Amino acid sequence: MCIFCKIAKKEIPAELLYEDDLVAAFKDIKPIVPVHVLIIPKKHIESIADLQDKDEVLAGRMIMVAKKIAQNLNISEKGYKLLFRVGRDGGQEMPHIHLHLLGGARLSENIRPV
Ligand code: 5GP
Ligand code: ZN
Repeated sequence: MCIFCKIAKKEIPAELLYEDDLVAAFKDIKPIVPVHVLIIPKKHIESIADLQDKDEVLAGRMIMVAKKIAQNLNISEKGYKLLFRVGRDGGQEMPHIHLHLLGGARLSENIRPV
């Protein structure tokens, strides 16, 4: 089982901010900005490239949850960045879909450039 599946099943700890039937959200272990949250599907899907038509509700849920967490953390008004890395060229290191919610500071255009 991958690390993010284990976090979703609470087999390894994380600073959980939100969960429902489809998704979980927790703080990134190595934040690159003051607010750095990861929103993941509870079921294992490797990347956005592996999403299927039946996952449409799940994909929408990840964005809605990111939006609500941004509101709860009071960064909504100033703004933030949502980021999916997809595959090797996209710089994805964790092979389980995760949406980065990045904020709390003015962000440079290139986060972790390669
Ligand atoms: P990627 O580069 O795949 O888009 O992002 C993976 C992210 O997962 C990185 O920002 C990394 O810090 C984070 N991460 C990796 N392992 C763990 C972990 O065990 N716990 C948490 N909370 N975050 C992790
Ligand atoms: Zn997984």
